[in-house]
Amino acid sequence: MPAADRLAEIRDRLARAARETGRDPAAVTLVAVSKTFGAEDIRPVLNAGQRVFGENRVQEAQEKWPALRAEFPGVELHLIGPLQSNKAKEAVALFDVIHTVDREKIAAALAGEMARQDRRPKLLVQVNTGEEPQKAGVAPTDAVAFVARCREVHGLEIAGLMCIPPADENPAPHFALLDDLAKDAGVLWRSMGMSSDFETAIGQGATHVRVGSAIFGHRDYPA
Ligand SMILES: *Cc1c(COP(=O)(O)O)cnc(C)c1O
Repeated sequence: MPAADRLAEIRDRLARAARETGRDPAAVTLVAVSKTFGAEDIRPVLNAGQRVFGENRVQEAQEKWPALRAEFPGVELHLIGPLQSNKAKEAVALFDVIHTVDREKIAAALAGEMARQDRRPKLLVQVNTGEEPQKAGVAPTDAVAFVARCREVHGLEIAGLMCIPPADENPAPHFALLDDLAKDAGVLWRSMGMSSDFETAIGQGATHVRVGSAIFGHRDYPA
C-alpha cells in the first residue's frame, strides 16, 4: 500500500479514536515519524498534505529537511530522540518542537541557544515512566520538580510531557501516569502513543501521537 494511503488510514483511525472517547480529532496532532527514510519516501506523504514530522537524530534531520522545507512550505519538525547539549544550537535552529528535555544541562543549553537565536521551539519533558535504566527521561517522581526547575531556574516554558512505555508492557498504565503527571505539572501537551498503541494513547489524553512504521513501512535499520 502506498504511504499516502496508509497516512489516510491512520488519520481515519486517529479521528475515530478521538470521537469514541469524546475528544475533538483536531486536538490530536499526528507526528509522522520519518527517521531512516529518505526524501523520496517522505515526499509522497508531504504531497498527501502531511506537514508535521518527527525525527530522532539532529544530524539526519539536518541532512534531509532543509531541502524538503524549501519544496513544501509549512513543515513543522519535531525532535523525538535524545538531545546532547553540544547539539542544542543545531536543534534550536532546525526544530519547532523538542520532545526530549530530560536534564538540567540540556535545559540550560536550550535556554542559552533560544536567547541567542531568538527562536522559541516548544519544549516537552521526557518522562521514563517505566523507570528503565537504559531509557532517557526523568523519573516519574522527579517530573513535576524538573518542570518547575526548567521554568524557574532556566526561564523555559514547558508545553508538555512525553513518554515511551517499555516495549514489553501494556502501555495503558504508562499513558495514565503521564496524563496524571502532566496535570500535576500544569502542562497541556501529552506526547504518547506510536504505531502499535496510538489509539489507546488518544483514549488517555494524548495531544501528540508519534507514528512511524504504520505510515512509512518497515524500517530497514534501527534508528
Ligand atoms: C521511532 C519512534 C517512534 C515511531 O515508532 P513506530 O513504532 O514506527 O510508530 C515514536 N517515538 C519515538 C521516540 C521514536 O523513536
